[in-house]
Amino acid sequence: MFKQRGWPAYRADQLATWIYRNDVDELDQMTNLPAAIRSELAAEFDLRSLEVVETQRSVDGTQKLLLGAFDGAQIEAVLIPEERRNTLCVSTQVGCPLACSFCATGALGFTRNLTTAEIIDQVLHAMRRMEPGTGLTNLVFMGMGEPLLNLPAVSEAIRILTDPKAFALAPRRLTVSTSGVLPQIAPLLEVAPIHLAVSLHATTDAVRDVLVPLNKRYPIAALLETLREEPRIHRRRPVFFEYTLMQGVNDSAEDARRLPGLLDGIPSKVNVIAMNPHPDAPYRAPSREVIDRFTSILHGAGVRVTLRRDRGRDIDAACGQLANRRPVQAAVNPADGAAGDPVGRAAERDSAVTP
Ligand code: SAH
Ligand code: SF4
Repeated sequence: MFKQRGWPAYRADQLATWIYRNDVDELDQMTNLPAAIRSELAAEFDLRSLEVVETQRSVDGTQKLLLGAFDGAQIEAVLIPEERRNTLCVSTQVGCPLACSFCATGALGFTRNLTTAEIIDQVLHAMRRMEPGTGLTNLVFMGMGEPLLNLPAVSEAIRILTDPKAFALAPRRLTVSTSGVLPQIAPLLEVAPIHLAVSLHATTDAVRDVLVPLNKRYPIAALLETLREEPRIHRRRPVFFEYTLMQGVNDSAEDARRLPGLLDGIPSKVNVIAMNPHPDAPYRAPSREVIDRFTSILHGAGVRVTLRRDRGRDIDAACGQLANRRPVQAAVNPADGAAGDPVGRAAERDSAVTP
């Protein structure tokens, strides 16, 4: 865009530095850009694409941001602070067309893809909410939507996030999660050496067909074969297989024994997640004993396995719970006091909401 207008390339770098490194989105403040460029940019572009509608803070420090786009679409991003890192989980679509039967986003249906600007704006909004002196260390494309069905915008976002002149994140700090859109896996891995996470959740097609309907198009064997043959997947950059355990559905000892054989020949780590329940899905998390049995069978078979901790579950910010569910407003009926807010979410709500 700068080239077409005959502006030197370093002007684009200056603009990127203001937006991504200095978090300045007022053109007036970009003092090293000539006034003529500033006014032309102001006339044609809106540097802000999302507004914060609401923020919620979990008892564990996780923050969920509800963000609104110019067309009224709303999406969520989740910031997860840990001892030595800040991980941000971003959305890539408004809703999701893949309708996995256990996922709250899937139950919303699909509205539209997010633009690159809307993906990057989630990062900028989250960075403003981090503790002073800390920065973003990890970013996961695991919010609402299927990133590989919006690959052009996701690829461009990855380029900006890893660009030394913009966010300068190392590619290994980025993870893109897919439910298995096979034809887009190689093109994604060509963009940058990021981590790939694959939502597996089952060891038979009969079960996966129900949990992840996309499996009917790209069944388990085809998915694993694609990964096995992908040269960009190797020991230093293994696939993270996500396996959400659902009571009585995919949590048997037989499933645990079948899984290592399936992953044979694919450098991998397995992330076991207990089902995060929500009103749109009929599944529950297994008991602690069943979860432990599952992970120890995998462990015993030499599989690298981690049990993912729940973060932000009290504010519906955990994996698969993103569905723009607004907390019940205690103020709707003041006579009820906090009765409309049984778990005290209203009290958790951040007061610094910037509508
Ligand atoms: N569409 C992509 C990325 C977003 S979902 C994908 O499916 O991989 C992020 C992760 O949360 C996926 O592994 C998904 O399967 C998992 N997930 C969805 N609903 C869940 C739930 N209710 N409990 C636990 N994990 C869930
Ligand atoms: Fe979409 Fe992922 Fe949810 Fe499936 S699990 S409906 S692919 S967001």
